[in-house]
Amino acid sequence: MGDKTPDLRKLFIDAAGHAAAYRESLSERRVRAPKPVGEVRADFHRPFGDAPRPADEVIEELVSVADGGLVATAGPRYFGFVVGGALPAATAADILAAGWDQNAFNSVLSPAAAAAEEAAGTWLKELLGIPPTASVGFVTGAQAANTVGLATARNHVLLQAGWDVETDGLTGAPKVRILAGEERHATIDRSLRLLGFGSANLELVRSAPNGAVDLADLRARLVDHVGPLIVCLQAGNVNTGAIDPLGEACELIHEYGGWAHVDGAFGIWASASPTLRDQVTGVELADSWGCDGHKWLNLPYDSGFVFTAHPDSHARATSYSASYLITSGAPEPGDFTLESSRRARGLAVWAGLQELGRDGVREIIDRCCHLARRFAVQLAEAGYEIANEVNLNQVLVSFGTDQETDRVIAATQQAGVCWLAGTTWNDRHYVRISVSNHLTTESDVDRSVAALLAAAQTT
Ligand SMILES: *Cc1c(COP(=O)(O)O)cnc(C)c1O
Repeated sequence: MGDKTPDLRKLFIDAAGHAAAYRESLSERRVRAPKPVGEVRADFHRPFGDAPRPADEVIEELVSVADGGLVATAGPRYFGFVVGGALPAATAADILAAGWDQNAFNSVLSPAAAAAEEAAGTWLKELLGIPPTASVGFVTGAQAANTVGLATARNHVLLQAGWDVETDGLTGAPKVRILAGEERHATIDRSLRLLGFGSANLELVRSAPNGAVDLADLRARLVDHVGPLIVCLQAGNVNTGAIDPLGEACELIHEYGGWAHVDGAFGIWASASPTLRDQVTGVELADSWGCDGHKWLNLPYDSGFVFTAHPDSHARATSYSASYLITSGAPEPGDFTLESSRRARGLAVWAGLQELGRDGVREIIDRCCHLARRFAVQLAEAGYEIANEVNLNQVLVSFGTDQETDRVIAATQQAGVCWLAGTTWNDRHYVRISVSNHLTTESDVDRSVAALLAAAQTT
């Protein structure tokens, strides 16, 4: 702004240069944020001025205030939550998406954004073992994917019972019975709450010790069931990585005319690996699936996918029309999401999948699982308890009492070689390790194990 024409090319190149320099520093940068959050806040909070300022000056200042608050989540030794680090081509594509500033609502607004989603959606279905006829929505993450999948489920099962939610709403509708595993992800509860089910109406299916739903309990609960039914299944428990017996559960749910939704945020990627695929046998039988791009596929935030086996019900639940909206007449990307205007996140998905190829996707999934086992073996050899059977990329380790485990977590975070956090599993505290980043190597695991053991052995 101001009287000087900004040098756009220099501005963009400098910003990309800062981003690249940061990425290059990741393998040696301390993983935790350099400054405490209070200081970062103080750096950002400043009087809001009246006068416009030159763009380059603003960006230089942003870089200097943000640096103290950047966590190296994109790097190879971040094992908290379930977090990937955006792949190079996917990141560059996201930079272009911002530069091109496209609106992915429909193919009139941006043929490129729409086509990228369509092509990448086809590849994703193939990788994930989802039927090629399924509808796809590119959403912000698994939370949004679960919400769209379950909204479609709700309207579909009620229509089967003779009730049209799209027209008549929920007041007076037949009751929908809704079940989920005890160890479901908390986002399922938020989706159900938003969709008007009410938390008191969620019926919990008992979990096996690893956190997967107990099929016998599900079967017992469904005996004699009649009426609208939705069951939320899970591929990949956030603590243990456990995957529900998807095929058998879907068959059972269908015997009762129900809808099977799979929250597969990260665990559904087992489909992409021949050595892990038997853990998700029958995944193709579900009615809807939620999945993340920004976790194990290592795409930039924010990126998630919802798929349904009932495209008409999906579009009925989430599309709209208006007199001013020119469309191609065919289903459009925006018909399958909650948002209208959307950033063109499909460009990064397209680029990331092209960059990896089928082999690259499989290699990341397999390597992360191998590295999770390496963590478990080394920590067990050092005498610490591993709480889960490491079937995927998640490891739970105890350092003794809850208090001692918490102390080891805090000391390890502070030391900064790696970052991981805690969880409570079967009423005990554990360090929770998630290996989800495409950059992580055996040496990163060894350094992180050494950091944990050093924290454990100093008092
Ligand atoms: C992470 C996660 C979610 C939520 O995903 P977001 O991308 O954060 O919206 C839902 N379910 C499971 C199993 C997860 O791991």
